[in-house]
Amino acid sequence: MNQSLKDQFHEHLKNMVWESTKVKIGLKEFYQLHGTKEKVFKELELKQTDNDQERLNQLFPNEFILQYGFLTFNQEHANRQALENHILQQQGVVRQFYIDRKYPKARGDLSSILKKFDGKKCPTCDAIMGRKKVGNSKLTKEHIVPLSCGGDNSTSGPFPQCIGMCHLCNQTRNMVVVTRGKKSYGTQDRLTNKAVRFLITQVYGSKNDLDSELSAFFQERYNLAIRAAKAKTARYPMHSTYQQSTHSTPIDDSLLRIYDDDDLENQAKHSSGSVPQFDSSSSEFIEAQNQINSNLKFGQSMVEFEHQLRMEIQNKNANGSMFSFEDLQVLISSLDKNNGFIEVTGIDEQDYDVFLYLHFEEQFIVQSVENSKYIHLIEEEDLDASTEERITEPLHEVSLDAFESPESEILDSDSQQKAKKNRTSLKVQIFRKTIDDLIASDSQCAVEIEQIQTVLVWLCNQGGLEWDDYMMQHGISKKDDRNLEIIALLQENGFSCTLQMKKNKLYAEFTLPHPFTKS
Ligand SMILES: [Zn+2]
Repeated sequence: MNQSLKDQFHEHLKNMVWESTKVKIGLKEFYQLHGTKEKVFKELELKQTDNDQERLNQLFPNEFILQYGFLTFNQEHANRQALENHILQQQGVVRQFYIDRKYPKARGDLSSILKKFDGKKCPTCDAIMGRKKVGNSKLTKEHIVPLSCGGDNSTSGPFPQCIGMCHLCNQTRNMVVVTRGKKSYGTQDRLTNKAVRFLITQVYGSKNDLDSELSAFFQERYNLAIRAAKAKTARYPMHSTYQQSTHSTPIDDSLLRIYDDDDLENQAKHSSGSVPQFDSSSSEFIEAQNQINSNLKFGQSMVEFEHQLRMEIQNKNANGSMFSFEDLQVLISSLDKNNGFIEVTGIDEQDYDVFLYLHFEEQFIVQSVENSKYIHLIEEEDLDASTEERITEPLHEVSLDAFESPESEILDSDSQQKAKKNRTSLKVQIFRKTIDDLIASDSQCAVEIEQIQTVLVWLCNQGGLEWDDYMMQHGISKKDDRNLEIIALLQENGFSCTLQMKKNKLYAEFTLPHPFTKS
């Protein structure tokens, strides 16, 4: 095969399309230009017995269509070619980014995307997206190749790199990148060619061309999120309070996740004032105390569960095996024997993968292999690498406008993601909630220190710890006065407060609103 002649033939055919040359005339021209028809056929290894279309397909499969004596491009083929070139080019960008060890680009102002995609279908799942929507179908800005992997902020060209996408697809794709899309080359992780191809093809290509493993992973995670949003049986800490406080405002299914800071704030707002400050024998106080206790029990169980699960997964992995749902069953039974785990957490009220998704979306991930399910840890560093909010360039290289977010940005998922990233640990949240419940109202923000101590002692006991160990665990050094330790502990957990003496009694006086409730 004469490759150079083949290339020339290809150019010639394209010109024939562009200039609408009759096929017979165009081909004759080419043969004459390169000797004779027989000579060209021989060098291109074409058969006399085939017809023109067959010969074209032999050389350039599916690229040209011969119709009514004229030649046209097969549009589908042309699109595929263009997409293929784009994928190869982007893979090159990612490789080069890795070789150059450059800082990722700062997030661009992509508010135009929000305008453009508002009310449109999600390019991956067809859900109708909206800027004002909450939850899964909220319109977000997607970098097809993540900034952290070398992507840029461009919004133009035949295959724009930045587009609108529903919140759920965006998150799920991030999860694909974090858990399946990277490979260590030397000291650093790089987005694999396979992952780049997947991320682009999912938006611009055909579903049939998707990598089956990554596609299955995406689909499983996506479906799980949908199921989780529907799992209304999920329990909440402060169950009754939660229901009351949200009674008049129906919430979006997809908001069904506990421990969002907003929920806690709302709960705090609705429940504060119901706790009388000093009359510890009143029925309201006892009821509130019970509520706090069951809340704490739930929280403690979850903390314990997360800890155990994490350890057991690590042990399994260290031995080269995976942690299965059967293993999970064993863990749950053993926890249940000790402290009634199933009753306290309601884990049996939904599928385990839904439960894990609802409560530990960013800690654990479930993988199906044939008919079995396995649980993996999501390393925190992985997640950090996937979040693009961090300004990773040295300060002097970042232009000032990177710090100024236009108003429309507030509508964007950035703030949501930021809140998520800064999410405080369950332990701290439980602690804050417990203490906050003791504060009667905005005007009565002093709480008797004895009352706080009672709750703290209870917390210690729940954790099976002595007071000193409990303090040490929170990084509070031993002080001569236990009251000072309490104040230090409160401050360590984000409260702004001082020790005050009033009428011979000691109080912790809080500054409201709490620093951690300010956004
Ligand atoms: Zn979607």
